[in-house]
Amino acid sequence: LRTYVMGLIARSNVKWGDIGGLEDVKRLLMETVVVSALQRPEAVQPWKGVLLFGPPGTGKTLLASAAAGSLNATFFSVKASNVLSKYFGESAKIISALYEVAREKAPSIVFVDEVDALTTRRSGETSEASRRMLSTFLAELDGFQDKGSDVLVLTLAATNTPWDLDEAVLSRFPRRIYVPLPDEKATKEIIKINTRGLDISRLDLDAIAEESVRRLYSGRDIKNLCQEAVWNMIREENRDLHKLAELPYEELKKRSLRTRPLEMR
Ligand code: ATP
Repeated sequence: LRTYVMGLIARSNVKWGDIGGLEDVKRLLMETVVVSALQRPEAVQPWKGVLLFGPPGTGKTLLASAAAGSLNATFFSVKASNVLSKYFGESAKIISALYEVAREKAPSIVFVDEVDALTTRRSGETSEASRRMLSTFLAELDGFQDKGSDVLVLTLAATNTPWDLDEAVLSRFPRRIYVPLPDEKATKEIIKINTRGLDISRLDLDAIAEESVRRLYSGRDIKNLCQEAVWNMIREENRDLHKLAELPYEELKKRSLRTRPLEMR
């Protein structure tokens, strides 16, 4: 189990600046992270867990990575449903092992995606395994709070369906942050972030942003759109690709892709 948990560890070099829009969300999370890390008077209890909720692809995982990146913390990323399906009977033990390692390797950020998979509301009947996994998770969230130690382990949980969460989970996350779809300003920032190093002066960002908001695009949709545009440009600008494909890797490494300003189509 420890080996499995070790496999969940990542280092993050995501910065707050890699996230477009979400100013309020970023500020709340930054505050949570900073206050948790600072020396503080006894009366200031840091948040142990923060719940991020909102539509898919709006940057919840990215926010957790930025929180870890900013602290240079050990970053654990788990999908509750993965743990349940792969390690059915042992999923509770995985959670214990996870928090044990997180404390050892503190400061740590534990990101639990699809936290709703742990709770009972949705299906009515729940397996013994998910019940045990849930109660272990809740105990871990309560547990290190009591220890009042200086060990910084912050749990960020995410869900697209907060209405599926039961009270037991919600009450452990008094700080709940809505992560919305991007507005026009945020859309433009996300485009800039995802086209770094390219000339986008010919793009009509206002028009793209307006259309993108109208279509309810998420950050993930916008990123995919940017990738599509970038690949189209590469395809058109580098017509001699078949010649390049003959070259050995060492030769290729020395050359650079031809890029022209990105255009709308
Ligand atoms: P899900 O609920 O489906 O797990 P999520 O909310 O965790 O989704 P992310 O995985 O953080 O979404 O986002 C997917 C990708 O979309 C990110 O890797 C990033 O490239 C891009 N993205 C989403 N939101 C933003 C944003 N606000 N700024 C920059 N990139 C974004």
